[in-house]
Amino acid sequence: MSLTSLPVSTLGVPRIGPRRELKLALEAYWSGKSDAATLLQAAARLRAENWARQKALGVTNIPSNDFSLYDHVLDTSVMVGAIPDVYGWTDGPVPLDTYFAMARGSQGGGHSDTCSHGCTAHSHGVPALEMTKWFDTNYHYMVPEFTTGQQFRLASIKPIEEYLEAKALGYETRPVLLGPVTYLKLGKSKDPSLDPLSLLENLLPVYVEVLERLAANGATWVQVDEPCLALDLDETARAALRTAYGLFAKQVPQLKVMLTTYFGGLDDNLGTALSLPVAGLHLDLVRAPEQLEATLAKAPSDLVLSLGVINGRNVWRANLSQILDRLEPIVAEHGAERFEIAPSCSLIHVPIDLELETELDPDVKEWLAFAAQKIGELSVLGKALAGGRQTVAQQLTASTKAAERRTTSAKVHDVAVAARIKAVSPEMTRRFGSFAERSRLQRAALNLPLFPTTTIGSFPQTEDVRKARAAHAKGALSIVDYKAFLRRETEAAVRWQEEIGLDVLVHGEFERNDMVQYFGERLAGFAFTKHGWVQSYGSRYVRPPILFGDVSRPAPMTVEWWRHAQSLTQKPIKGMLTGPVTILNWSFVRDDIPRALACRQIALAIRDEVRDLEAAGAKMIQIDEAALREGLPLRQADWKTYLDWAIESFRLAASGVADTTQIHTHMCYSEFNDILDAIAVMDADVISIETSRSKMELLDAFRTYKYPNEIGPGVYDIHSPRVPSVEEMARLLSLARERLSDRQLWVNPDCGLKTRKWEEVRPALVNMVEAARQLRASVAEAAE
Ligand code: GLN
Ligand code: ZN
Repeated sequence: MSLTSLPVSTLGVPRIGPRRELKLALEAYWSGKSDAATLLQAAARLRAENWARQKALGVTNIPSNDFSLYDHVLDTSVMVGAIPDVYGWTDGPVPLDTYFAMARGSQGGGHSDTCSHGCTAHSHGVPALEMTKWFDTNYHYMVPEFTTGQQFRLASIKPIEEYLEAKALGYETRPVLLGPVTYLKLGKSKDPSLDPLSLLENLLPVYVEVLERLAANGATWVQVDEPCLALDLDETARAALRTAYGLFAKQVPQLKVMLTTYFGGLDDNLGTALSLPVAGLHLDLVRAPEQLEATLAKAPSDLVLSLGVINGRNVWRANLSQILDRLEPIVAEHGAERFEIAPSCSLIHVPIDLELETELDPDVKEWLAFAAQKIGELSVLGKALAGGRQTVAQQLTASTKAAERRTTSAKVHDVAVAARIKAVSPEMTRRFGSFAERSRLQRAALNLPLFPTTTIGSFPQTEDVRKARAAHAKGALSIVDYKAFLRRETEAAVRWQEEIGLDVLVHGEFERNDMVQYFGERLAGFAFTKHGWVQSYGSRYVRPPILFGDVSRPAPMTVEWWRHAQSLTQKPIKGMLTGPVTILNWSFVRDDIPRALACRQIALAIRDEVRDLEAAGAKMIQIDEAALREGLPLRQADWKTYLDWAIESFRLAASGVADTTQIHTHMCYSEFNDILDAIAVMDADVISIETSRSKMELLDAFRTYKYPNEIGPGVYDIHSPRVPSVEEMARLLSLARERLSDRQLWVNPDCGLKTRKWEEVRPALVNMVEAARQLRASVAEAAE
């Protein structure tokens, strides 16, 4: 019998619900407005809908256990009983509240303490597990915490329960597990000498038990995710993979494993992957298309290959005929039974359904595909590859037409932008004078005290600010009244900063919803969705802007706010912008031009804004690059290329000003010892960074590496509601002075204050100003 379709897999679909049903259910439960049964029912309904939707769209390998109430890495920790003692679990099923305590900490507070993207911390009570980014995505997972001699045992049978739940509804599913090696590699221990991989032997019996129970209940295939295969692996990790999959094949031979790798190519791990006794291997053919031939050349002839040809990391509609041109000869040569069709990775990184976007520009909408549309594309490919293109002729024509229109659209291609890009010269990425020269001029022009004090940009986004914004969005507050309200907020913030004696003021960013969205909405080339939510962590979802066309800046974006703030004071107000790399990294980007080029276009637009601020009189302009580090490629070999164009873009944005104009930048993370050189190459006159949580440990790097320019190591941890004392901040400053010269040192918090309350911010900043004052006094005394 000939196939009507190649098997189609999705590898996992969004959990959050098309209308954010999961968020609503979770938050109702957390706030005590609903009970556990209600939450679990809502979750079951979402799973059932996902299975139904996939079935209806023609998916053959429907996944189960891809759902999670919070995070699948946390689910895995709970499954294997890796629950740190503080959570008080000893035996039996893990209570829901223990699970949420691990996710959010136990006294409610949880993840409310976040800066605009990513930086997080937890409030008192039992702390949450640490959280960090899942590979190079904006999805955050809860970091497994291991102890020396850690024992594991089966503490949750969620994979089996969800497999049976699907079965009861009539769906035969392929359960998804996070593989043991990736799981361990994502974990950490308080004991730095513990290599998590050394726990493999303790862990594997639990996995074997899960696999056995799945098989006993009727599962024939299981999807095991080992995205660590896309990373640089050492021999220990490779050996761990061989041990794990060797054991599974031996102990549970009746269960076939589809080993999935994604977010990159196998490269030097290809031999390892192919040596594992698994029945199937999934390849990310979007990030690494070339690995298909290499894999086919070496793979055993009975290995099923899952072809990840639809981009699971981006929102573009595929050009299906082009994909078929490439796959048809391969399928013809090797036989249809060798292949499955899949997205490059699980679909949790894209929004759910484009059909909900009724207000998107119809041209742009035609070029997009969200999860539901991508599943449709997979099914078209599956049919075309089994039954021939004529079985899906209409869909293929539509796809080709859309691709053609996108390639030629004037909304995408702007000749003026192309001309500007062509005219970019190396001089445009260099300041006129050296840092030493600029610094001399800036000192004379700015007349700042030693250890100048400032903040990172935003002030608390209070209930009032959010209400006014919502009212304006709904049409209940006119633009005139809304702006008047924002001007009053700005004025109050400026007056208060003057009053407490800060040296360099900010306008407070009250007009900004989000540091990327605000700029995206004012730049040509970006589109925004109404329902395009993607899970960032737990119940926190984001709607990334969609960069679809050449970028330009039709009009100044921030000058009006800066001018208003500066009109109120003699003290300098810093202009406040988001940098090109951060705008790029927090958006869905084009797949028709290189990232580097898109970044350069954004850089030119920001450069225009920088110059307009300077022309308006700004003496200092801050260009935030909060997301520079997270754009680092997964493989170290690719870092340099990325850093080269990223830093060049920053410099292009920053270098259009006179030497007297002081350029600041800000980065809110502390792990950049490995990119310090690149940060110095940015050549910002002043950089503010996060250090307070690591007690200036970061600055150790500066002991060996002499950072040349000025720097403000954050002395106030804004991720916590705690108000730091004068002594505490003075102590941090004296630590900083051991590593930096006095003339280099600025005094500031470690990130923007938008998520804090004024009651916390006021005393904290008063203390911070006092700490700087004391330091100045002691330096003056020592000089006498
Ligand atoms: N200027 C921004 C703010 O203060 C910076 C935010 C960030 O780095 N995440 O909010
Ligand atoms: Zn920050």
